[in-house]
Amino acid sequence: MKNIRTNIFNPVSPDQVDYLPDHVLSIDNGKITQICSFSDFHGSWEDQRSCICLPGFIDLHVHLSQYRIRGLYHPALLPWLDSSVFPEEQKSLSEAYATALSRDFFSALIKAGTTFSVIYTAPFREAAEAAFEVAHDMGAKAKIGMTMMDRNAPQGLLQTTGYAISNSIRLHEKWNSESLSYIFTPRFAPTCSAELMREVADYAKSHDAFIQTHLSENPDEMAWVKEIFGKSSYTEVYESLGILGPRSILGHAIHLSDPEMDVLSSSGSSIAHCPDSNFYLKSGEFPLSRVKAHNIPFGLGSDVGAGTSLNMLYHAKQMNFRQNTDPVLPSEMLYRISLANAKILHLDHRMGSLDIGKDADILFFRIPDGLYLGEHSLSQLCFSSEDFLLAKVLVDGVNRLGS
Ligand SMILES: [Zn+2]
Repeated sequence: MKNIRTNIFNPVSPDQVDYLPDHVLSIDNGKITQICSFSDFHGSWEDQRSCICLPGFIDLHVHLSQYRIRGLYHPALLPWLDSSVFPEEQKSLSEAYATALSRDFFSALIKAGTTFSVIYTAPFREAAEAAFEVAHDMGAKAKIGMTMMDRNAPQGLLQTTGYAISNSIRLHEKWNSESLSYIFTPRFAPTCSAELMREVADYAKSHDAFIQTHLSENPDEMAWVKEIFGKSSYTEVYESLGILGPRSILGHAIHLSDPEMDVLSSSGSSIAHCPDSNFYLKSGEFPLSRVKAHNIPFGLGSDVGAGTSLNMLYHAKQMNFRQNTDPVLPSEMLYRISLANAKILHLDHRMGSLDIGKDADILFFRIPDGLYLGEHSLSQLCFSSEDFLLAKVLVDGVNRLGS
């Protein structure tokens, strides 16, 4: 049993965050067992009064295989894939390379305060297996998918449909706990055959498994999809193959018509919004007010390597900055990197906020000298996060940062 005296910001909804100054948070067996005001507390406690305390962050969309090429610039999606991404992903065929890369990646996630992530690996069984083994070894929590590509990919990365399906199913059967599980990962429509996507959709539906892919990121990509599949919209391609649903997470979804948004909404699909990546590759501005008007669930992803950082507070700030007219308040910035993502993953009974019974995945940010603690501290953290030292990262109640 551990009791920590601190100042809590707890996300509730896009419009509400509960501020609990001078409270004691109790942890037992990796779970939160009590949260009470210090004035009502009796017992010994650890002093973290100089910190503000938040739930661990959740990254809804990140490419482990691209971690080492973040910041290698190309001004558009398709040339960037050819010149930077594909040559790097090829290296992960080597298990030793994939293992070393995974170690670097999961240590960096913890240093950024990310306690759960939704990951694309390179299109090799070895790469996905290495990511799972390392995550398991380091106590990291994630959904991990081997990227699938059975057409229009360079020779060294191209899979047969059978390889993509059979290895994904094997990984899904092997890794199936709530903390560490498989997510079916057809990269995006241009590199996946209709047969592959239909098989993924059928299997995932009958096994309650998650699917992730990309949707309508860039006009050249969209034109390519129309040319290949002959459908009137990108969304219709996924809809007709059964890819959409309440366990489907679509990266980006920037350029969508109202009828496409209606389809996403009625299917229960979610969007991983990646504002930093969208402006890095000049893909476009996320249609925030229209997505909200259509009641499509969405959360934030870093999209490293097109995203430049694993720091989810940075991406929350980008969510605000990458809207020309709609302001995004700190309550929503926190919500979109925590509880919103937990709900999308159907894991809000385990994570996403600091509530009794949930996993003790908890961050402590030290308030910089000269700043006052108060309800406004969350806003200062969201917009000036580089001034706040991340002092402690608990995962299941264990500090993974070192003290
Ligand atoms: Zn992506």
